[in-house]
Amino acid sequence: MIPFNMPPCTGAEEQYIKQALKSNKLSGDGPFGKRCQNWFEKNLPAKKTLLTPSCTAALELAAILIDIKPGDEVIMPSYTFVSTANAFVLRGAKIVFVDIRPDTMNIDESLIEDAITPSTRAIVPVHYAGVACEMDTIMAIAERHNLYVVEDAAQGMMSSYKGRALGTIGHLGAFSFHETKNYTSGGEGGLLIINDEQFAERAEVIREKGTNRSQFFRGMVDKYQWVDIGSSYLPSELQAAYLWAQLEHATEINESRLNAWQYYWHHIQLLAEQGRIELATIPNGCTHNGHMFYLKISGLKERTALLEHLKSKGIHAVFHYVPLHTAKAGAAFGRFHGEDRFTTSESERLVRLPMWFGLPKDDQMRLISAIEEFYA
Ligand SMILES: *Cc1c(COP(=O)(O)O)cnc(C)c1O
Repeated sequence: MIPFNMPPCTGAEEQYIKQALKSNKLSGDGPFGKRCQNWFEKNLPAKKTLLTPSCTAALELAAILIDIKPGDEVIMPSYTFVSTANAFVLRGAKIVFVDIRPDTMNIDESLIEDAITPSTRAIVPVHYAGVACEMDTIMAIAERHNLYVVEDAAQGMMSSYKGRALGTIGHLGAFSFHETKNYTSGGEGGLLIINDEQFAERAEVIREKGTNRSQFFRGMVDKYQWVDIGSSYLPSELQAAYLWAQLEHATEINESRLNAWQYYWHHIQLLAEQGRIELATIPNGCTHNGHMFYLKISGLKERTALLEHLKSKGIHAVFHYVPLHTAKAGAAFGRFHGEDRFTTSESERLVRLPMWFGLPKDDQMRLISAIEEFYA
């Protein structure tokens, strides 16, 4: 069976984890944690970055930082993972879902302004498949209406929009290092990216259980104490050690994925030209990271048949999100603003193909043959 996903591994993970074990420093912000954060601050670049136990945790931290309160509204697409919404629902916010653009499956920026009310506090663009949302437009809307922008860049590490790394454009951004993403910190992990400096100090406090422990370690205060609300948003040093082995090979991982992505694209292009399927659009000015290769077909019936066919050929392909507004919790905690023209119908057409670091060429070829066979 060609698996849909394999967690990325470069080979140095074991050595770094052993090194961390021997150092007797296993809790967060040890030498590997600092090395990772410095890498992101230099390479993204970003004012400040903080490793978190997950992207979910980074989004929760962001929701606390922008002071989301009960009754506030947060605008986002419905075609996303539950954490995008939950992070704000946990603070008491009402989620306002806006339709997506069929070409990128990202939030339709032209519909955002109409969804704004006096209660709106933030916009949360999700860069689906590591392909950027129309950030210039979104940032301009946010500025006009005095709103915060929190980028859910869970899938977006190494992607860019007009030369800027995803996650570094909004006031805050979040990456995921879950094992299904391009880079992992040993299965679970995330990063909070702080682009608006006003949040830097408080982010450290919230992440350290509401204490000023980080300042204490830097010798800025002589004892640490409870100063704010907070939680435990530090990953362990073992997770950072795993991640460091991936950051050292960040470009190699990216290129391997892009090679597989381009191979698929090149060989499926003919079916797209014949109008049998549709492929993703990468807008001008955007680079992507080969996070996901998806195709869109006529609908649910064909999707089930294609997934069955691929399975019979030993290939595990999958569909993706059930739109949040159609789920039980989505109805309770949010509302869909305007018409659902594309969110539900496009989500039912989407099939994701196996895509991971080191996916063998033979497997890529087998997969293309299986798809060609289905459409023959
Ligand atoms: C994976 C993902 C998340 C959650 O990431 P975790 O690190 O598993 O918490 C959130 N949003 C999007 C868009 C994702 O793809």
